[in-house]
Amino acid sequence: MTDGKSHGGIDAGGTTFKCGLADEDGTLVETRRIPVTTLEETITACLDWFTPHARSGGLATFGIASFGPIDIDPSSPAYGTIIGSAKSGWSGTNLHARFGDAFGLPVAIDTDVNGALLAEMTRGAARGCTSAAYVTIGTGIGAGLFANGGFLGRPSHPEFGHIALRRHPADHDFESVCPFHPDCLEGLASVRALRARAGDPEHLSAEHPVWDIAADYLAQAARTLTLTLRPQRIVLGGGLMLAPHLIARVRAAYDQQMGDYLDSAPSGDLITTPGLGDDAGLFGAILLGQQNAR
Ligand code: ZN
Repeated sequence: MTDGKSHGGIDAGGTTFKCGLADEDGTLVETRRIPVTTLEETITACLDWFTPHARSGGLATFGIASFGPIDIDPSSPAYGTIIGSAKSGWSGTNLHARFGDAFGLPVAIDTDVNGALLAEMTRGAARGCTSAAYVTIGTGIGAGLFANGGFLGRPSHPEFGHIALRRHPADHDFESVCPFHPDCLEGLASVRALRARAGDPEHLSAEHPVWDIAADYLAQAARTLTLTLRPQRIVLGGGLMLAPHLIARVRAAYDQQMGDYLDSAPSGDLITTPGLGDDAGLFGAILLGQQNAR
């Protein structure tokens, strides 16, 4: 029984670790944002915040939705280990062991996008769907995919940010920011890619031509998802989607690219922003922990 206890979770992003505690009903009761600095400093700050709850026996379950690549196979000896991260000093870090040992609890670990997708399907924009995708468009790009009762890509996870795209006619000269691919989604449409073209997207006017390029690429990504997975909902989240005009442009580009090929639901119902906003990842982390305990 977990009555009266808290359910903890961390949305472990590249720049911020969002820590939170929820009650039995899933309502967030306490949160803390911890900026990512060094590995030890960041993990110690998280442990310090949660430890009083764990020590008093008040922590019932714990989950982490983390940036990757990360080992998310519970049967692997390296479960919860960050692999080959672009983040210096983090590769080889085992989040499962660090938090599990400290709290004396089983800790559930999955990707940040799988966590956000779980939360959106449970209580957000994909509620009631049996298949859905969550794509985060931030410093990097990643996706969580759910169909046939489970996450796809097991025992690993998809690397959707690196699918190939067709270049926008006005974008042939731009050099991809992905060190591996000259033509991938992350290399051409991440926040980093937009920043390299035109400066910080936060400060760009809605009229800037770079938005049409970004919308075209994100529509190509949504088109690929529809034509392969056929999800009932495609949730586009992450920092770039905070630009309020972008979602309508992605839908328009998607409709234009798809033409009349599929007599499917209008893209306004298919492609959406997160219902849980910035909290999707944190809710997801907490849900991962709760599911793990069942
Ligand atoms: Zn790439």
